[in-house]
Amino acid sequence: MVTMEKANIDWENLGFGYYKTDKRYVSYYKDGNWDNGQLVEDENIVLNESAGVLQYAQTCFEGMKAYETVDGKVVIFRPDMNAKRMIDSAKRLEMPTVSEEKFIDAVKQVVKANLKFVPPYGTGASLYIRPYLFGSSPVMGVKPAKDYIFRIFVSPVGPYFKGGSKPITLKVSDFDRAAPNGTGNVKAGLNYAMSLHAVTTAHNEGFAENLYLDPKTRTKVEETGGANFLFITKDNKVVTPKSSSILPSITRRSLMYVAKEYLGLEAEEREIYFDELKDFSECGLCGTAAVISPVGKIFDHGKEICFPSGMDAPGPVTKKLYETLTGIQYGLIKAPDGWIEEIK
Ligand SMILES: *Cc1c(COP(=O)(O)O)cnc(C)c1O
Repeated sequence: MVTMEKANIDWENLGFGYYKTDKRYVSYYKDGNWDNGQLVEDENIVLNESAGVLQYAQTCFEGMKAYETVDGKVVIFRPDMNAKRMIDSAKRLEMPTVSEEKFIDAVKQVVKANLKFVPPYGTGASLYIRPYLFGSSPVMGVKPAKDYIFRIFVSPVGPYFKGGSKPITLKVSDFDRAAPNGTGNVKAGLNYAMSLHAVTTAHNEGFAENLYLDPKTRTKVEETGGANFLFITKDNKVVTPKSSSILPSITRRSLMYVAKEYLGLEAEEREIYFDELKDFSECGLCGTAAVISPVGKIFDHGKEICFPSGMDAPGPVTKKLYETLTGIQYGLIKAPDGWIEEIK
């Protein structure tokens, strides 16, 4: 077997940041049609000063990863789910959709063109994939742009939270992440722009992230700025908040399936009142970046909710969920049909 030459990177000490790789994918939408798309080298984009994305934040994105598996393959995890979610985001923002086939083909092309940046198995690092779509032609009045650009770049990344699987502390935010009938359920850039002040405030106060309440009644748990919640009840049931303003995490949906089908646990999506949190035994945040980050403590205006799993290590169910899903991603455990797309 020919061994692939890897880039000269200190894989073990990679942070979660942008790293320029060799090739990126670009496709242009003009006169009502997408072109065929191509790989390019230039990481810079030249735009009209009045482009829709710059003036009215007409943009959405996706986040996914490529992994090197235990037997040296390179795979991506459920790209069809990201494709479908970007279609939902595009529709909500009045942008042309990118078909599932075009999306998956483009992701494969970029990963193939940057194989040397896929971190070696066992380093804990992975290749982050960032597809994004934005209005590129000039707008003046508030209306959708005419032309659009769909691009994908990749960047090798280490773990999202420094300190790996050490439990983190959250704060209950006084800000809302989304509006009741707003865009919280799509991956729109504007959601993240308006979360920056809240997360910077939380960081300055020493917290890893915010817990956002439901924007309508502020009595129920929604999610954090970039990850959905999973809670474990004292009788080992996995529960996750149900709400129309939560971003539907693919990791969370996959973990709910893993809980039921691989671990034989009951798993339920339902409304979760903030007052219930004190009764749960474990709490985790799920998203592509970190898979599950254990939460040890939630700070609520001077009061603390401390999960019995504590601040030293993930709780037993969180740990089992993490190991099973990453085992599936790294080729150690048999995946459900259609979850793993092989690139190499
Ligand atoms: C992207 C994102 C998630 C995680 O979704 P995954 O598909 O699991 O990566 C959760 N919440 C928000 C707000 C997000 O933007």
